[in-house]
Amino acid sequence: MKNEEEVVALPTSVKYCIVGAGIHGLSTGYHLAKELKAAGKGSGTDILIIDKARPGAGASGIACGVVRNNYFQPAMRELMAHSVSVWESDQQGYAYHPVGYMQISHEGMRSDVRSIYEQQQAIGYESDFIEGAANCDAYMLGLFHDWRAKGITSVLHEKKGGFAFNQQSLDGLAAKCRAEGVQIIGQTEVRELETDGGAVTAVVTNRGTIQCDEVVFGAGPWVPQFWRMLGLPETTEILVDGATITQPTWRYWALQEGTLGIEPGYLTTNDGNAPPVIHIDTDVALHDDAGNLLVDEPWGIYYKPDFNFGGIQGGYMPSKVDKPFDEVAVDPYGESSPDFVVNDDFRLIWASALSFCHKRFEGMASKMSKEPSGGIGAFTPDSFPVFDTFGANAHVIADSNHGYKMIGVGALVAKEIMGEPQALLEPFRYSRYAEGKLHPLSNSPYPWS
Ligand SMILES: Cc1cc2nc3c(=O)[nH]c(=O)nc-3n(C[C@H](O)[C@H](O)[C@H](O)COP(=O)(O)OP(=O)(O)OC[C@H]3O[C@@H](n4cnc5c(N)ncnc54)[C@H](O)[C@@H]3O)c2cc1C
Repeated sequence: MKNEEEVVALPTSVKYCIVGAGIHGLSTGYHLAKELKAAGKGSGTDILIIDKARPGAGASGIACGVVRNNYFQPAMRELMAHSVSVWESDQQGYAYHPVGYMQISHEGMRSDVRSIYEQQQAIGYESDFIEGAANCDAYMLGLFHDWRAKGITSVLHEKKGGFAFNQQSLDGLAAKCRAEGVQIIGQTEVRELETDGGAVTAVVTNRGTIQCDEVVFGAGPWVPQFWRMLGLPETTEILVDGATITQPTWRYWALQEGTLGIEPGYLTTNDGNAPPVIHIDTDVALHDDAGNLLVDEPWGIYYKPDFNFGGIQGGYMPSKVDKPFDEVAVDPYGESSPDFVVNDDFRLIWASALSFCHKRFEGMASKMSKEPSGGIGAFTPDSFPVFDTFGANAHVIADSNHGYKMIGVGALVAKEIMGEPQALLEPFRYSRYAEGKLHPLSNSPYPWS
């Protein structure tokens, strides 16, 4: 077990307790320490981050690591532009690779993506937009001599963004926390909350009880468990077109990812550089290299050469987990969780999709890694984040699986804890469902676009 040195005596009280040492918990801890110091109201030593395992044990530590901004929803785009600026603030410390990002799409998505491009221009987020099949082919061939994907009529090329090495970026954030005096303690599982008059007064763990003034939950796919501990509703009423509908507050999707186990440098651009992260959605049927039909409905993959994963790594469309959240495997990662672990069918589809895009990947399906890959995400009713404060002092960061890239959310939550409401977080309050203030939906097959 990594970071065993973090299993130290628990304090019995702390001013700020952060549950979960993923991207959000660590980012909140680091930025809150800086805010406290700048305001002369304390320091990192007032902050404790606890995790039932270790930093990076959850979704953040296995994330593909893609940082992008091709969001159809204005509020998501603005929030993401803020997060990209945080990634850019310390590329080395965050193991961030700003190679850019491409959304390559079929005709059914063209107008949505055009609108994303136009709004990116409005907020000064640098990108190019290419339209029409011939223009797209020419643009892609200018980047990759062996590009051969079919059915593409638009390309959005974001010049910012890219990807980061998942665990390294968390190690970087954890180091920043510790440098500010924030304590991170692993192997400490929160099992209950003590409350008084709507405020959380203590977290009860397997190793003791910690009194606290403010508590932050950055629990990734485990967030429904804390939602329940906080007594929040398990169904959500949503105002849609003047009528109220009721939906489960949480559902799980399985993220299917994999790695083609070859030298990552095998995929470079024509000029020998690291390519942008590529995301392609097409409506042309997918066959394997022998010509057998694999998928005959619109499909999409994303991929990048990645030395961290040791190959060409990326993912496919997620699949729904049709079970209530408390029936899904408690530990949603690893081989022990049959709900989602990717199988040979997925590996063949994914490798064939790479070959659909680039001739260089033809005949390589047998090189797909058999390492456990992918994981699950807890999604809200509209699949967009809930960033909100409940009761007097419970700050919930529930990113609806959008969030490795959202490294900046912790900085905004830290400001809110300091008493400064953040306009960028306002569109993500839980009250939006009852008020019918929903985010617009795109035609993407992904629940997070
Ligand atoms: C396969 C996969 C690929 C992804 N790829 C991307 C991507 O490319 N880009 C992107 O932006 N997003 C991606 N995501 C989504 C992203 O990883 C998550 O949205 C984000 O990492 C969630 O961060 P978090 O800090 O909220 O949670 P996590 O990183 O899951 O951290 C939560 C922590 O809470 C701890 N914990 C849980 N319960 C308790 C408890 N009771 N007591 C104490 N500690 C507890 C866990 O041990 C864990 O360390 C991906 C997700 C998956 C599953």
